[in-house]
Formats: sequence, C-alpha cells, structure tokens
Amino acid sequence: MTRYVFPPPPLPAVAVAGTDERFPVHRIYCVGKNYADHTREMGGDPRTEPPVFFDKPATALVASGEPLPYPPRTTNLHHEVELVIAIGTGGRDVDPARALDHVHGYAVGNDYTRRDLQAAAKAKGQPWDTAKGFDRSAAIAPIRPVAKHGHVARGRIWLEVNGVLRQQADVADMTWNVGAVIAELSRYFELQPGDLIYTGTPAGVGAVVPGDVVRAGIDGLGVLENAIVAPGAVAGVDAAAGAR
Ligand code: MN
Repeated sequence: MTRYVFPPPPLPAVAVAGTDERFPVHRIYCVGKNYADHTREMGGDPRTEPPVFFDKPATALVASGEPLPYPPRTTNLHHEVELVIAIGTGGRDVDPARALDHVHGYAVGNDYTRRDLQAAAKAKGQPWDTAKGFDRSAAIAPIRPVAKHGHVARGRIWLEVNGVLRQQADVADMTWNVGAVIAELSRYFELQPGDLIYTGTPAGVGAVVPGDVVRAGIDGLGVLENAIVAPGAVAGVDAAAGAR
C-alpha cells in the first residue's frame, strides 16, 4: 500500500442528476470563442479563428448551490454560461463521426473569468492561467448522462443575474459542435474518462459583484445557481468542492 507524506486530497467529482453516483473528474479543458457573436464581442473574427483551448485545474470546480467568494486580484469578474461535455471514454485522434461515442453526459457550466487579467495577458501575449484557472472558477450543475437524456445538439442556453437576463442563445449556434470539439481537442491531448470540456459561451458576458445571484441553464439540462459572496466569506479553499 502506498504511503503518502500527507493524506492525498479527495478526488474532485461532480454529482450525476437523479442518482447518488458521482462523476470523478480528471481534467478540465475549455474552448474560447465558440459562438460567433461572442467572438465578435471579444474583438475576434469568427470566420477565420480556429478553436482556442485552455484549461483549469480540476480543483477549480464549484457545485450548484455553493457560494462563490469574490476572488482576489480582480475588479472585473465575468460570468460565461457554457455547455459542458463529460467524457466517459478516452481516446486520441478521435474520428469526428464517432466523437459522440466518447460522451458520458452533459452539464450546465459557468466559466468564471478575471476579465481584467485576461485582457492584460492578451495584450502582452502571456498565458491565461491567472485569468481562468483560479479557485472556484469552474461552476457546474449535476451531469445528465447520455444514456438517460440523450445528446445535446440544440436548446436554449441562458444566464441571468438577479433575475435579469444577460446571455441567451442556442447551443446549435456553436461554431464547433460537440463532435468537432472532441475530435479537435483529442488531436492535442489523449482524452481520458473524467475529462470535462467547457465548450464556450455566447455573447452577453459581463461583471458580477458580491451579493449577486447567478442562474444559468440549458433546455433539458437543468439549472446552475451560485451566489457571489464577499471575499473570504467562505473559510479556506475547498480543493474538492465537488467531492463533498
Ligand atoms: Mn469560456
């Protein structure tokens, strides 16, 4: 039996809707600029730009219903509602025609972003880690398995802050659909069971502040809700929020 120098942290995991099972999370990948209207609002050209991939640590997960303390080192925290793919079967160089076979399920996610740090990083050609991979930056609702709920090719995707609609689009508007995202990502990384892929956000991203309640949903996939609370209002960093 392996002896560790200190007890290993609990495995990050996400609830599976309608069951007491949990989905163990291996890695979190994200797609940038996957809706033409959001690509334009960020100053890009949707006709010419290939998918942008970045990642977050699996420990960045925060479950629906958990408070989200306003993170340090930003004054411009943004919401980004996204469809999340939960990979159940790994693979590399996945055939786009077979890509959906790798999906265990889907969830509603929110890719929280320090927009001010992202803008500064972009201006200097620097990496996005501090803008994207901070603690509790990856909010996620319970996963809905394909076996029960099928695949998600279309459906309204929306986000509201304090009951006011901020983002609304259709998943069918994604520049690279679920199969294309999986196939392309698998050319860079050998996908593993437990990988999550945040597939990008539509237009309407904007700031949230302590006191705000952020609700987001995708038709047929449920609702993700988190309250933004004061910095430090939650003690410590729970490295496995999803594991509780
Ligand atoms: Mn995003």
